[in-house]
This record gives sequence, C-alpha cells and structure tokens, in this order.
Amino acid sequence: MESSRSILHVAFLLSLFSGPISSSLAPRNPASPLLSNGHACIGCVLIVSIVEQLVQVHNSTAQEEMERLCSYLPEKLFLKSICYLTAEMFGPDIIKLLHLKMNADVVCHALQFCKQEAGQPLCHLYNPPQEGLKRALSRARKIAWHSPTLTGPGGLMGICSIPALAKICQKIKYALSMALPLEDADGDKFSAFPTLRGFYWRGRDCNDRSRNIYPGRRPENWDAQEDSNCNGIWGIDPKDGVPYEKKFCEGSEAKGLIVLGDSAAAHFHIPPQWLLAAHMSVKTFSNLPMALSNELDWPQLSGTTGFLNSTDRLPNHSIYLRLRQRNRCNHRDYQSISKNGASSKNLLYFMGSLSRNRLLDHPAIVIYTMLGNDVCNEHIDTVSKMTTPEDMRAHVMETLTFLNSRLPPGSHVVLYGLADGRFLWDHLHDRYHPLGQLNKDVTYEQLYAFLSCLQVNPCQGWMSSNETLRTLTSERAKQLSNVLEKIAANETFANMSLLYLDYPFKEISEEWQKRGGETWQLIEPADGFHPNEVASQLATKFFWETVLQQWPHILGKENPFNDEIEHLFGDQGGH
Ligand code: CA
Repeated sequence: MESSRSILHVAFLLSLFSGPISSSLAPRNPASPLLSNGHACIGCVLIVSIVEQLVQVHNSTAQEEMERLCSYLPEKLFLKSICYLTAEMFGPDIIKLLHLKMNADVVCHALQFCKQEAGQPLCHLYNPPQEGLKRALSRARKIAWHSPTLTGPGGLMGICSIPALAKICQKIKYALSMALPLEDADGDKFSAFPTLRGFYWRGRDCNDRSRNIYPGRRPENWDAQEDSNCNGIWGIDPKDGVPYEKKFCEGSEAKGLIVLGDSAAAHFHIPPQWLLAAHMSVKTFSNLPMALSNELDWPQLSGTTGFLNSTDRLPNHSIYLRLRQRNRCNHRDYQSISKNGASSKNLLYFMGSLSRNRLLDHPAIVIYTMLGNDVCNEHIDTVSKMTTPEDMRAHVMETLTFLNSRLPPGSHVVLYGLADGRFLWDHLHDRYHPLGQLNKDVTYEQLYAFLSCLQVNPCQGWMSSNETLRTLTSERAKQLSNVLEKIAANETFANMSLLYLDYPFKEISEEWQKRGGETWQLIEPADGFHPNEVASQLATKFFWETVLQQWPHILGKENPFNDEIEHLFGDQGGH
C-alpha cells in the first residue's frame, strides 16, 4: 500500500485540486492515506467536470479534450505524463459515459472513484439527473463494468506493473517524494531555496555555509567584514571608518516578524483559473508545480510575510514589508511558521521550527493568528470536536511559555481573535462556484453539501445550511477569542508584552464596499472558505493603522537613514 500512495496521490492530478481543500484545515494524520475516498471522489468529479466543460466550450469530443487538458499541464513533476497515463486508463469509459450525457457524479461513481459508504447517502455535486441518480448510475455501471478500480489488480497499482511503465512510475514516485511535502518535516533553518519551506517562508539566508549568519541576528562586529544578519548592510564607510551597520542600525529598534498561523496566514490559494474550462490555456497551469511544492500556500504574496510586489498588489501589502519600509535594517527578517490546518492545539507540535535566539537575535513581533481551525473540522459531530475554552487557554499558555523561552527581551506578541465565519454562508451560498459558472449548475450550497456528504468539509460548522449550527460555531469562536483577550489582559511574561486584536472582517468588508466591491469578492472562489489576497491585504492595513495609532512602540522607530541605506545598498540583496 505504501508504494501506491504517492502514485495514487497524483494519479488523478486532481487530488492536486481536491486534497488540499480539506487538508487546508484538517490536520493531516501521518498514518492515514493521503487520498481518502472523499478526496478521490472530489478529484474525479473536478476533472470529469472540466473535461465535460471543455467539450462544451470547444464543441469537440471528450477524447480530444482530455488530450487538450493534458497538453496544458507542465512537464514538471511529471504532471503531463501522469495526466496521459490517467487518460489512458480511464479515458475510454469517461468518453463513453460523457457521450451518453452522464454527469460527473454518475461517471465518478461508475468508475468507483466515488463510493457510497454503508448507511450513508449517495454523494453528489450536481443536481441529480431527471431519471434519478440511482437509475443513471446503474445504467452507467453496465457500460463501465470493466473499469479498472483504484486498488484492484487492474488498478493504478497495476499500471505500474506493466514493464514499460514501471520506470516512469519509479520516477514519478521519486519526483513526488522530493517535491511534495508529504511529511511535515520542518527544520528551523533559513534557506536559499524558495519553496519547500524555503525563503518564501522565511528570510533568505545569505550564507548557507555558516550557522552564524542568518536574518534577524544582531550583527557581529557591526558587520564590518560581512553581512552577518543578511539585511544587505555591511562594510565600513571610508569617509570616517565607521561600519555602516553601526551608523544606520544601532539603536534603530530593529525587529523581525514571526507569524504563527494557519492556512489563511500562509495564504492558501487555488487559482480559480485552474477550474474555469472556458479560459484554459497552456499558461493556466504554469504555476501548478510551484504551488504544489508549497502546499498550495503562497506566503510570498501573503498579507503577513509576503514580499513579492507586483502591479496588481498594493505597495507594501504585507506587515513585513511595512516593517521593512519603516526600518530598512529589518530587511529579510521574517518567518512564517504557518500551516494549513493549524489550530491552537497542533501548533504545539510545529512551533519548534521557529528560529529565534534569545541572546543573539533582535526582538520580534509575533503574530498569533488562527482564524478558524479550533472550531472548524470535518467531523459529523463537529461541535464535540471543537476546542473548548479550557483547552484553548491551556494551549495558548503553553505556546506563550515557549515563546518567552525563545524571544529576546523587548518582543511583542499579538493575539488575533477567531473570525466569525458566518459571512461565508451569508455571502456565498446562492452564488455559483467557478465549476458551476459555465452552466449555472453548482452553487456553494451544493459544494458545501457535497463536501459534508463525503466527510471532508473543512468546516462543518460554518459551511453548512444549518443556521443553528452556524450560530453555535460562531458562539464557540467568540468564547475562544475571549480566552485570548483575557490572556492578553492578565498574563505577563518577562521577554514579551501581549496584545489582543479582533479579526477585523467587518472593517475589511466595509472598506471594500467603500471601494466599490462586494463582500463575496473577499473569499477565495475555489474553496469558498479562505480570505483571499485582497482581504489579506486589507487586514494588514487595519493591523498597521490600529497598532500605529495605539501602540506605536511595538513597531519600533522610523529609521531616519532609510533613504541613505537604499541609496548605498540598493535592494539590499533582494529577497
Ligand atoms: Ca548587516
């Protein structure tokens, strides 16, 4: 089984799309298969839907459109090969079934990617066909009766036993094990590589060979000889013999940014273009390999530690960039210790990857932001699995005690409250999901119900048609936020001060409306769950304005030498 996992994982390049939706919030149990039945089903329904819509858009055949879809995929990570293999295996049946106007639900049940569990309903994304789902399915099964199943002798495992394909299976497995972060093995190292928890996640290392050189440390000998803290400032001013780091950064209150967060903090994002058949091209999937090796997170663009600028982004769109603008000595001093699915509890298992030396480094601003996972889970009895206020307090106190042991004196910890996720249902339930835009046949209400039925809904509490449940979930979220607020008000630690902030969704939404937008545009369209880039940038704006107004000392002084630093050191070695 072990070997089948990675093959399976990719086999439908779709687990690409499907897995992450739920894993974004649900902590992954390392012992569980990567691809649950639910994920296999979603993956299949997504792909078959896209093929079906491509047929419609190009007025062509399923055969041609499967080939077209594969041709759009990049070679990297063997995505194209995997696609052709998959099409080879399942194509003939898919073609037959689509030809008979069976919808994606029926096709995927017939091919056994979707399975009806005993005592559970038949899960479907689309409205059932006129003849009824069961009837359509029994017709479809007669046609696809010989379909290879996932684990049977003719299944995807079987394909790798064909000598001609064995080699490529090996290569795919190897590529995946290298590229996909299947295991949660975060080191606490800075890196010169972007993805796989590299400098997209924490400031780029400027000397991989030395353990004493990394972003955030207090400079050694004022960096007269080399840039020990990677902020791009070093050397001696020939005019007066004073090292530049001393001249520009001494007493400047330099500090780093550390984010302990969830998928929203890491900016989980599935580009909707991946799901829109009408506009697909070779360009559509060019960023897929990078996104995959980044856990489908885009921290480099996030409102917390993002550093890549582009034309459609506000200048200084992240908290890190604003800290850097305020004091150029802070260049590269950021760390995103964020994970899809992170909660107050599982943070305890990965916060050790935080890198800060209490004696050697600059103080830090730590932002603790877990917007929902303490109340969001995929369990049917979702309420009983939510974090209780007592547990919340215990988890957060453990985190703070740990931080106090790592952070240099003069650090600050900002505790963000949970979001009130009722806006998801309120603003999305009757809108069309990207997959439903062409034919106006998939709303978010349908998507949420489909995910719930498959027991992979990342937030049963809020992504639900049950208003009582949504209210209950919000009440618990509020209680947990109150715990954070109380801790911030009452607890003290030697090396850091505490501050509590409500997550400003209301303000973000009002600001966006003032700019002519609508609230639903602030939510990630593909997953119908995460705040998107605009929301994340606006959250940053409110964070900055609030802190600057009420607690400016947290941000440190504005460095009067910023222009000189920029003049002398340019982009300071870039990011
Ligand atoms: Ca330096």
